[in-house]
Amino acid sequence: MIATARKMNASGLNQGTSGNLSQRVEDGFLVTPTGMDYDALVPEDLVLMRFDGTHEGRRKPSSEWRFHRDLLAARPEVGAVLHAHSMFCTTLACLRRPIPSFHYMVAVAGGADIRCAPYATFGTEELSRHAVAALEGRKACLLANHGMLALGGDLAGTFKLAVEVETLAAMYWRALQVGEPVLLDAAEMAVVLEKFKTYGQQPEPR
Ligand SMILES: [Zn+2]
Repeated sequence: MIATARKMNASGLNQGTSGNLSQRVEDGFLVTPTGMDYDALVPEDLVLMRFDGTHEGRRKPSSEWRFHRDLLAARPEVGAVLHAHSMFCTTLACLRRPIPSFHYMVAVAGGADIRCAPYATFGTEELSRHAVAALEGRKACLLANHGMLALGGDLAGTFKLAVEVETLAAMYWRALQVGEPVLLDAAEMAVVLEKFKTYGQQPEPR
């Protein structure tokens, strides 16, 4: 978890201490502590939380522990949640502009677009509700005037998805500088979504 948190900053996905990460464990989840430099983190700084919101350990959990908890509770297939104020996702989120089907890779987040959740104050239950709704049937979303969220089965997959979504946001933003990007239609996105069900999978060894 600490290695992934550091990778968030090294890759440019995150700035300073604004992002946070969680991973499902037996009887709850681990979440990064609030306001700590990732370079200084040691395993004892990670906060063990239960789904009732109580926590253990020497540090206070991230101020965004609610959406981590609610997403892990609502989505049994999800093992890790990543939140960042990445440059391009956040730029679009400040315009309250979802990412439409301007590129087929948008389907990597599970649908024909990447939604932007309505604004609510950071750390609130309202923001968590908006995030859970925007992520219905999806693995990534933008948070209005705030940042982005990515979900996955494990930390490595979640990190990879977050980088992919940030790259898409950067491409979309660039395309918008020149004009209005041509969007792929629903039928084409349905074809891509179908192909993605087996995309990147190696055949079973015999
Ligand atoms: Zn945030």
